[in-house]
Amino acid sequence: MAKPGEPPAGIAKLAGVMKAENIPHTVIDANCEGILFLLKGKYEWDDTWYKRAARKTEQHLHSLRTDRAYQNINRYKQTVKDLYRVLTASVRNEGIRITLSDYKHPGFSPVKSSDIRKAAGSPEANTFYRYFEQRLTSVIEQTGDDIVGISLFYLNQVLTAFAMIGFLRKRFPCIRIIAGGGLVNTWMKKPGFKNPFSGLVDEFVAGPGENIILCLYAKKRDGATHYTPSYSLFPLDSYLSPPYILPYAASRGCPWKKCAFCPEKAENNTYVPIPPSRVLQDINLISKQNKPVLLHLLDNAISTPLFNALTENPPGIPWYGYARITDVLADTDFCIKLKKAGCVMLQIGLESGDQEVLDAMNKGFTLDLASRVIRTLHRAGIVTYVYLLFGTPWETSISAQHTLEFCARHHHEIDFINPAIFNMPVCDPACTGYKTEGFYNEDLSLYTDFIHPEGWGRREVRQFLHDWFKKNKAITGILKATPPFFNANHAPFF
Ligand code: SF4
Repeated sequence: MAKPGEPPAGIAKLAGVMKAENIPHTVIDANCEGILFLLKGKYEWDDTWYKRAARKTEQHLHSLRTDRAYQNINRYKQTVKDLYRVLTASVRNEGIRITLSDYKHPGFSPVKSSDIRKAAGSPEANTFYRYFEQRLTSVIEQTGDDIVGISLFYLNQVLTAFAMIGFLRKRFPCIRIIAGGGLVNTWMKKPGFKNPFSGLVDEFVAGPGENIILCLYAKKRDGATHYTPSYSLFPLDSYLSPPYILPYAASRGCPWKKCAFCPEKAENNTYVPIPPSRVLQDINLISKQNKPVLLHLLDNAISTPLFNALTENPPGIPWYGYARITDVLADTDFCIKLKKAGCVMLQIGLESGDQEVLDAMNKGFTLDLASRVIRTLHRAGIVTYVYLLFGTPWETSISAQHTLEFCARHHHEIDFINPAIFNMPVCDPACTGYKTEGFYNEDLSLYTDFIHPEGWGRREVRQFLHDWFKKNKAITGILKATPPFFNANHAPFF
């Protein structure tokens, strides 16, 4: 499960390669299709709330696909809550937790390869089996496709993706199965990683998949060739957003790559930007073909050259994305230009309101600059979505209080807040000094437990968030405005 709000950009990139090279292919967004399949099912559940919600499913889907749901945050919350109820009804006897963005099985862990293999061994037990059994069978029988690529980004997708792989193995034993995507990349960068899924997955691909596709089909790539992503095979009217949000990655990696515990740094991913002029060409081309209503820039941090290019040649549709806190965003004239160029929202990784914590994390900005950036963006009419990270090894209850005070001071200028609790990445060299002795990790665990040097553990952080941060009057108002499940993906519509 991943939020079904927009098509997956990585697959659009691969579809662009195959289209340009005349390689016949089919695209299936099994995430979006599977969720709609469950939402449209009829379930025998004698629950008044469910019955009310189920009667309105079509109306709610329509409302999320037009601007109706976004006219009022309370109406929006009711809409997504009703859809969540219907999803819950689809699995009510199985102990599975399912939402519009999450899928957890009570018996199988997505970080334990033996459990994942069990999920692959009994695909018919999977919640989505009736959907993918019909869909994959009909596509493969019609097209005769003999290579299937599976894209895995989130842990929530693992069990169902492997149930699909297990099904394909049984039904079409000769098919070659290749898996890639962000999660596979992280698995493969784990020291000593060996494919624990031999017999199921033929090949795992780390990093971008373009090269393997060209290699499979014996196509030669000139180093300078650029492929424009293609969205023409995606079900663009089916996503649960006004049709449609165009996701576009103008770079891979991060231009800063210095923040502590960031996967970009730990995995030593190279920063590869696409030239801004090329980015604008791509966006214009795709916009002409598919008429998006919103551009979602997926970069870890939109670069200053790209900001400049967007102000000089606005893409003609509103856009948003992540930005690092830097001097340019404290410049009022520059932010007004961004606003005029269509920038509706910027996502800002503030993480903490304590300078010592920011310095220890190597964020590379001062709190004074962060204040000026947030104020300037607000004055320019650009919505700010601020990300906070509580419970890092350098934070104490006092520094967490500083973060609360920072947010309260800026509550008129911050539009949305995402308060997260820190997870210690298992394979970051910096984490070794903090590991809990004897803590047992599964073989594919991404995070590990640790003893906080100041006793500011997850329990204490949770309590602080619940008792203080979320109860602060200035902050409560901001948190209540956040769209549940879809969060930043739907925030620009409000
Ligand atoms: S700016 Fe973001 S992506 Fe870049 S290193 Fe820092 S946390 Fe990582």
